[in-house]
Amino acid sequence: MLQDRHFIPLKPEIFNAFNCPECGAPGPEGVRVMVLGKQTAAEYACQACGLAFVRDLPAGFTIDLPLAWRLSDKHPYHPPNGPAEDWPAYPAYQVPSTARYNVQRKVFRECKRIVVLNTIDHLYGHVLLKLFNAQHYIDKHPDIGLVVIVPKMFEWLVPDGVAESWVFDIKLKEAWGWNAGIDAFVSEQWGRFDEIYLAPGYSHPEFTEINIERFSRVKPFELTAFLAETPHITMVARRDRLWYRSAFSKLVHRGLKKLRLFPDIAVWQQDRLVARTIKRVRKAMPQARFTVVGLAKPGGLPAHVEDLRTMRMDQETELKWCRAYAASQVVVGVHGSNMILPTAHAAGCVEILPYDRYGNIVQDISVRYNDRMQLFMYRFTDEFASPRSVARHVVSMFKDLEVYRLDNQVNIFRSE
Ligand SMILES: [Zn+2]
Repeated sequence: MLQDRHFIPLKPEIFNAFNCPECGAPGPEGVRVMVLGKQTAAEYACQACGLAFVRDLPAGFTIDLPLAWRLSDKHPYHPPNGPAEDWPAYPAYQVPSTARYNVQRKVFRECKRIVVLNTIDHLYGHVLLKLFNAQHYIDKHPDIGLVVIVPKMFEWLVPDGVAESWVFDIKLKEAWGWNAGIDAFVSEQWGRFDEIYLAPGYSHPEFTEINIERFSRVKPFELTAFLAETPHITMVARRDRLWYRSAFSKLVHRGLKKLRLFPDIAVWQQDRLVARTIKRVRKAMPQARFTVVGLAKPGGLPAHVEDLRTMRMDQETELKWCRAYAASQVVVGVHGSNMILPTAHAAGCVEILPYDRYGNIVQDISVRYNDRMQLFMYRFTDEFASPRSVARHVVSMFKDLEVYRLDNQVNIFRSE
């Protein structure tokens, strides 16, 4: 079988490069692969002590924390590098759900050797990030067919060149838990292939290598056109992660939320912050155009702002939003997975970074540059940044770009 760390063997041999969690004997015998949902695991038998157990395969967002548990009583065994979240103990993993969902198997190319990329996850951003791994396998390993397991709402992003897609009509929250229905479907496919691997599904594949147009079919904004095009700024204003004016207004909103009072007041305040930012930028750059997107009710913005907000998400809206990002030099928004597609298509961003997200900095940015342009093009502001300071960054990106670019991309030594 292929020796490559980006391929985890599943058939004919199952990955077993680890020691028995009970007795420490190396290389327990793989019995069968289990696709639980977001986790891909396998059942093992230890030849030395007889332990029968299941172990999470080193893939996805738990890649460094593969948990194992005893088959008889779900007793957990934590990995040697630290305690893992004991997710098999959660109710959703105690009793397998047998729902089959509506699954479609789409075959584009018949292959006997495949690598499976399981993108199912209960978090929107995780599905996207795992899906970006597809390009590596399509380009670097054309002799091995790529099979993507994908939730239906992400199918539009599956790039050309995959051998098959297995599309599950599954809601994000359903990806959480032991889905015996998904596992049953996958097992039925097993016999069709001679050799099967699992893609680790890295959470942050090197983005400068990724061509987003192959996923969204929307051409991103080119940095070289930054100053040639009319300034266009797109603001991402989502209801569920808000830009607050101050620590006090955040506190008040949290309190009101608990009491279920004035549910929209913070959204209304955010709209004011967005409107004031637009006014500030317009003062410095009267020709600038603005688009606002996000899962929220439209309305209430200054004149001549394109308001693409909606409470109903569909593929047409996704594409409309991607086209707005791709027409924008800068996108502005609060940190979160809602920034992955905007930054993949726009040239740069100004991101409002909440204090409790400092550990997640840049995880949601599709970093398109591999030199010092990164620091110029991706700006992070304080959680309670004022419209004035956000606007100041936006304006600077236009006013200061040319000198910064000459200093950092042209007048330097580069290895040819
Ligand atoms: Zn053992």
